[in-house]
Amino acid sequence: MNLDWTDIRRRAEAGEGVTEAEALAMTALTGEALAPVFATAGAVRREIKGNFVNTCGISNAKSGRCAEACSFCSQSAHFNTDAPKYTLKSADSMVAEAHEAHACGVREFSLVASGRAMTNPAELAVVKDAVGRIRAETGMQTCASLGLMPEAALSELKDAGLQAVHHNLETARSFHGNIVSTHTYDEEVDTVRAAKKLGLYTCCGGIFGMGESWAQRVELALELRALDVDSVPLNFLNPRPGTPLEDRKDLSAEDCLKIIAVFRLILPTKDLIVCGGRAVNLGERQDEIFRVGANGVMMGNYLTTAGRAADLDLDMLEKEGLVIRPPPHKPHSASLRPSVRAEGTDSTGLA
Ligand code: SF4
Repeated sequence: MNLDWTDIRRRAEAGEGVTEAEALAMTALTGEALAPVFATAGAVRREIKGNFVNTCGISNAKSGRCAEACSFCSQSAHFNTDAPKYTLKSADSMVAEAHEAHACGVREFSLVASGRAMTNPAELAVVKDAVGRIRAETGMQTCASLGLMPEAALSELKDAGLQAVHHNLETARSFHGNIVSTHTYDEEVDTVRAAKKLGLYTCCGGIFGMGESWAQRVELALELRALDVDSVPLNFLNPRPGTPLEDRKDLSAEDCLKIIAVFRLILPTKDLIVCGGRAVNLGERQDEIFRVGANGVMMGNYLTTAGRAADLDLDMLEKEGLVIRPPPHKPHSASLRPSVRAEGTDSTGLA
């Protein structure tokens, strides 16, 4: 297929993503032939997102002992792993972690809990308390990732101050059964739809390098486009010992950059956040993620693996001429280095 880069860029900058056939043709390119994919995706990111980036951080608020079986996850009770196991942290502890993240430059903070769904009223009460306090005390965008959540529970959290819901589809519908045996794709989708119905900012993406094909990566992006999510976290598998995927090593740094670029061109207006597996899969090429279309990174530690030092990420933003998107409520902490701190508050309409 002949790819018309001028037309692809014009359409993407107007908000129209590429067709499935165009995306598949791009995924077949390698080496120097990828140059126009990367350059166009970077140009579209700059046109639509300017020099603003999102930075998110998480609290692993409840870890391990999960009854679900997701093949990539070391927190599943079905697998013998060394992932930490603890019950829900106190609200005080989550709020303290949020303050630490805020001081490091994090704009959006998510409380993440293992398990099928957090519907226990006592646990929900703790999360609601933490959400309200984090929003009031830091001004960061508040997010939660609590499993297959019903609308009623999400509504309660929204009333407490929650602004965003994170829930990954994990992979393409046609590959999901190879990875997850204890719940269905439609259950994942229902959680995202419930959050959208409530007007919450939806952060929904997947993990790459689990054995899926390039066509299935494109399939996931098209599913996310149909769902009209706001933000797409892109995770690259960091195989965890003891999980069924412990020996997989599918992705090169070039593959990761190609995934970012193709997702930008399928989803030109969405936030694309590079999350788990960034350091281990991209290595020295991490700095290129923004040049090929990403407009955000997760900072600090991931759920069960360590991230890199916040200073290195702030250096990377500074070098790329990027600044953290203004926060929804209050200016960032004055302790954050001014070169990456945008003034004012967000006026994009997205909380
Ligand atoms: S990904 Fe979530 S639901 Fe799946 S095993 Fe891990 S903690 Fe449980």
